[in-house]
Amino acid sequence: MLLDPLQSRAQFAHALGRRYAILAVNADSHAAVTDVLEAAREARAPVIIEASLWQLEGRAYGAGDAVLGLARYLAELAVLADDARYRDVPVIFHTDHIKGPKTVGILTAALKGVEVRLSVGKGLVRASTISLDASSLTDDENVAFVCRLAEIAAAAGAPATIEMEANVDEGHTPPERTRRLIAPVEARHPGVVWLWAPGLGTQHGLGDGYPGFRVDLVVANASLVRELTGRAVGLALHGSSGLDAASVAAAARAGVVKVNWSSESLLLRSSAARDFYAERAAQFDPKDPQWKATVMDNGVQSFVAVRYVPRVVERMKLLGGGGQGPAFLGTLRQ
Ligand SMILES: [Zn+2]
Repeated sequence: MLLDPLQSRAQFAHALGRRYAILAVNADSHAAVTDVLEAAREARAPVIIEASLWQLEGRAYGAGDAVLGLARYLAELAVLADDARYRDVPVIFHTDHIKGPKTVGILTAALKGVEVRLSVGKGLVRASTISLDASSLTDDENVAFVCRLAEIAAAAGAPATIEMEANVDEGHTPPERTRRLIAPVEARHPGVVWLWAPGLGTQHGLGDGYPGFRVDLVVANASLVRELTGRAVGLALHGSSGLDAASVAAAARAGVVKVNWSSESLLLRSSAARDFYAERAAQFDPKDPQWKATVMDNGVQSFVAVRYVPRVVERMKLLGGGGQGPAFLGTLRQ
């Protein structure tokens, strides 16, 4: 079930209250989306599927047109998540690392949504939660951008559930910077920021452990954001691929509710694909009886899924998300 922006807030509160985190996978193909939903179904965990600019513009979605890619991504995910097979899986669709001149256009489209016919009838499907890449923005620009998104959402009559970030690759975000970013947004648009992504000592990419990562800073950030907003706001952890399992699990228990996962996921999928092409080389001869089954996209995709899905399940359970999907949906139905 694809969650709307308000249900997503409730999902984060559930995770925060029960001290678990939701795996947020950057999925860059239709097969990857299917694999991630399969993993969530198996783990009975909520899941966040996120798309960055490079995915929206990628071959599987917009082929150069990010707004078209967003519509295609959202429509596909809404239909898939609405299927009986995944109806007990809470699914959040998040726009991740959107930057550059197209940012406002893409995020406006995400807030306004697309019309999709689902089991409950035809309706407007919106991105569950949104964020933008603030790595090239000053703090004032970051604040102005988030406020602008809140205004666009209000004008469209759409609730905005926003993840706000500091420059997450720049070491630890000091408390004064958290204040400088969160407080003015809260003053002008109270209640739109529901995730806070400070620098916690991790970095994007495949690092080899981060000795600078500190769980006490997760606790301190969660406490400061609560003070600034008057509500429980979960943390988003970027750059989890290079972090050791014990630290990731500890972060989830300490106030991180969203764990972004991209680099390791890409490594797992591409390594499996490489093995497929190496192991099945003989079957690439058109005279081989298995040729067609091998060379179809489904050949490599099915091979990748067998290796990839169990690893995603493992990651979801590491974050404490196992079994929490039906538990959360039960609270929505009360
Ligand atoms: Zn990130």
